[in-house]
Amino acid sequence: MRIGGIVPFTTIDYPGALAAVLFCQGCPWRCSYCHNPQLQSCLKPEAYDWAHIISFLKMRQGFLDAVVLSGGEPTQQSDLVESVREIRTLGFKVGLHTAGMNSEALKAVLPLIDWVGMDIKAPFDDYERITRIPQSGEAAKKSAKYILESGVAYEFRTTVHSELLSKSDLKRLSDQLLAMGAKHYTLQPFRSQGCENSNLSASYLHAWDEELLDELKKSFQTFLIRES
Ligand code: SF4
Repeated sequence: MRIGGIVPFTTIDYPGALAAVLFCQGCPWRCSYCHNPQLQSCLKPEAYDWAHIISFLKMRQGFLDAVVLSGGEPTQQSDLVESVREIRTLGFKVGLHTAGMNSEALKAVLPLIDWVGMDIKAPFDDYERITRIPQSGEAAKKSAKYILESGVAYEFRTTVHSELLSKSDLKRLSDQLLAMGAKHYTLQPFRSQGCENSNLSASYLHAWDEELLDELKKSFQTFLIRES
C-alpha cells in the first residue's frame, strides 16, 4: 500500500466509530474540485512505509474502533485485499472511501469491508465533466451496483459546487440512485481548502435548494447534509 498521509484520530470519517484514516497515494481521475491534489500522482513516493503504518496501528489497538482507507483512490492499490486483511487481524473494523473507478477491485475487497462511502460525482452519463476522464461514469455506476448488491453498510455522497451541479443535475443523479435501489444519500458542499482551482473557489455560492432537499428527504431512507 502506498500511503501518502495519515489522520491518527477522527470521529467523522466512519459513522459512529473512532477511526484513523490512511490516505492512499495515487488517483487517475482529475476532479476539478479535488481537495487532495497532492495525492493524485501515482509516481510520487509514498510518505509512510507499510511497516510504519502497522506499528502505528498496533499502538492504537484498544483506542480506535476502525481504520478508514481513503485517497487518492484505495482501489488503485494492487495489494488492497491483503492490506485490509492485515488491518482486520489487528482487530479493527475497516471503512473504505472510494470514487468507484476500479469496480472489479472494489468488488473483490467488499466482503472484507464494514462500511463504504462512495462519491457520486454527477449523473452517471455526465461524469467526465467533473472527473475529466471519458467513461468514468460507467465504472462508477458499476461500483455503486456492486455496493448495493454486497449488503455492506454504505453511504453515497455528492460534493456540490453551484457551477458544476445544477438542481436538475442533482435531481437526475438522485433519480438514478433511487432507480438502482439506493437508500442512503448525503450532500456535502464544495470546500475550497486544498482545491487548486481558484476559479471554482471564487465562483462558489453556498445555497441549498429547499424544495430539492425536501424531496430528497422524502425519497431516501437516510438523507443527510454534511456541512463540515
Ligand atoms: S476521485 Fe477523489 S482523489 Fe481522485 S481526483 Fe477526484 S476528488 Fe481527487
